[in-house]
Amino acid sequence: MAEQIKVLVTGAGGFIGSHLVTYLKNKNYRVRGVDIKYPEFSPTDADEFEILDLRRWDNCLQATRGVNEVYALAADMGGMGFIANHHAQILYNNSLINLHTLEAAKTNGAKRYLYTSSACVYNESLQSAADAKPLREADAYPAQPQDAYGWEKLISEILCMHYRRDYGIETRTVRFHNIFGEKGTWEGGREKVPAAMCRKVAEAKLNGKKEVEIWGDGEQTRSFCHIDDCVEGIYRLMRSDFYEPLNLGQDRMVSINQLAEIIAEIAGIEITKKHIDGPQGVRGRNSDNTKLREVLGWEPQITLEVGLRKTYRWIEDQIKNQSQPDDLKMMVNAL
Ligand code: NAD
Repeated sequence: MAEQIKVLVTGAGGFIGSHLVTYLKNKNYRVRGVDIKYPEFSPTDADEFEILDLRRWDNCLQATRGVNEVYALAADMGGMGFIANHHAQILYNNSLINLHTLEAAKTNGAKRYLYTSSACVYNESLQSAADAKPLREADAYPAQPQDAYGWEKLISEILCMHYRRDYGIETRTVRFHNIFGEKGTWEGGREKVPAAMCRKVAEAKLNGKKEVEIWGDGEQTRSFCHIDDCVEGIYRLMRSDFYEPLNLGQDRMVSINQLAEIIAEIAGIEITKKHIDGPQGVRGRNSDNTKLREVLGWEPQITLEVGLRKTYRWIEDQIKNQSQPDDLKMMVNAL
């Protein structure tokens, strides 16, 4: 049997990282997961899982020992509510994580390194209308990214570019556009809009009140990509020879009001929307997938409705499970 390739997934206790570990195990890689926490919603599929704070250089050296490839997903992050209110913390923590992880990977002789960037790197002035033009990779410059979170992502992209040129480590950079799906944070303040909206609609359904709060007028727009497409795209990019930043997302733009309506239909209820003050991010954002199609010969396949149906079901189950007494929960989980 061919020797297994050893890979490290950082942020393996998080949403995308835990799904990526499963995907890579199914492809027969030997996977080490690292995070400051274990996955919340199911046990990890990683061969080894180490709890390490990757802001620290010594921990990054330990994490990257003996691996051929690194998928760098660790980040202090969350939805708009979190990103808009923790600028200094995000810039400090994520800078340390990414500087140290990449340098340690190079020091330990890793050959490939995939960095997970974000649509937040794009110039904000191009995203001021709800019907904003889809963003091409080149639209990150001249630089005016969103929030400290976006600035750090842009700097780490540049870091990867120079490590590749100066040291020969094959870096890949993916820019995600709103990834959502099952087993992602859905409560507590770090959740992103699809999970938050599924939770609000499920609560409206279960308590019979039908009112759902939406930050702002709800006419702000985004595109949303399901987690199964995300991990497929990550893997295809890592295996490709394309080393410039690449969008990974869906290119169907919907408003937050439309998103709420789609989820309500899935839940089988009618909702009334209550618009309240809250951080909204840019007014409009969509992914231009021209380069993605060209480079990978592929693009995300899962429609918003199909992805949301799975996600909604999972979140509704989480809420129902939470509201059961502990002995009943054990019985349900044992089934
Ligand atoms: P997540 O928050 O679920 O996962 C990130 C993980 O990093 C968490 O488990 C967290 O505990 C871990 N982490 C934080 N600080 C750490 C530290 N000091 N040491 C080790 N681990 C640490 O987020 P996610 O949605 O899975 O995102 C994964 C990556 O993709 C991140 O880099 C994120 O910025 C990027 N991204 C995600 C989206 C999205 O829509 N989910 C969009 C754009 C970019």
